[in-house]
This record gives sequence, structure tokens and C-alpha cells, in this order.
Amino acid sequence: MIEPQLTFSVGRIAVQVAKEALATFAANRQLRFYQREAGGQLFARVRGNDWEIVTATGPRSRDRRGRFSFWPHRASEQKEIFEHHALGLDYVGDWHTHPEDAPKPSSDDLTSIGEIVRRSTHHLPGFLLLIVGRKPLPEGLWASFHSTGGKSSSAVFNPPRCSDVEATSPAQKV
Ligand SMILES: [Zn+2]
Repeated sequence: MIEPQLTFSVGRIAVQVAKEALATFAANRQLRFYQREAGGQLFARVRGNDWEIVTATGPRSRDRRGRFSFWPHRASEQKEIFEHHALGLDYVGDWHTHPEDAPKPSSDDLTSIGEIVRRSTHHLPGFLLLIVGRKPLPEGLWASFHSTGGKSSSAVFNPPRCSDVEATSPAQKV
């Protein structure tokens, strides 16, 4: 069975986004003027430097959402982290939408992911920031990796690409 997937690499991390998560992104694209920003957390099956994003959560009823802003409900986020950890999935970053064709992070977005990286006591080398714009994937997706190595977060951006892979075959090595 052939299934579309989205893959990209950031630094040494090879990221695959499963179709369930892609469906969540697609359902929340801000194609109309009245649609508000949506977002949530990314949970992945982590095997060394191969991260398979299995689930993208949100938006939740208790988030605060504007056309150009998104404030997630923190207690809900914490609950999601516990629930997914019990399933063997690690929190690997955040996603949200922007009402622009090819999205770019705002300074608030960079501050926010920087704080997540700084506060983290996680074993992972960093976190992902994904922003879903209006263009179809992969053009409409921003992906950056924010390393826990330094004082400030460094972002690596590589254009994601869509590919058709055998769903049953093991993860392709880049
Ligand atoms: Zn943003």
C-alpha cells in the first residue's frame, strides 16, 4: 500500500510526518478570512535521529485563538504529554497555523520555542517548530529545529518534501 508522507531533515534529525498528523494540518489551514489560528503539540516515535511524528494534537476547546495569534491551554498540553508518553511517544515540538502562503515564524514564535528549549529537561537534542501556511505542502510548511545545545536556540530550515513510500517498508535512510 502506498501512502503519501512528508519527510525532511533538520541537522542530523530525519523527520517523517505520518498521514494522521498531515490530515490535522490540512484540516486547519487558514484558507478563509474568518478562520483563526490553530495549533498543538507534536508527538513522535523517536529512534535515535529518526523521528516519526505520529500525532499532531489540537486545537483544543480551551485554547485562545485569534486570526494572528494562538495561546495554547497549558494544562491541556501537560495532560497530552503524560498521555502520549504512556503510549511510547515523545513530545518533540509544536505546530500552529498562519494566514500566509509560505509561513515564517514571528518573533513571538521564536521566543516561545526558545523558552520551551530552555526549560526542557528532556533527553532530546532539541525541538521542532512547524508552521502550516495556506499553500499546499510542502511549500506551505515551515520547519525548524531548535537545539538545546546552546544558550539560544539555533534553527535549521530545510525545505520539506512530499514523497510516496511503501507504508510497510522500514524508514528510508537519508
Ligand atoms: Zn506564529
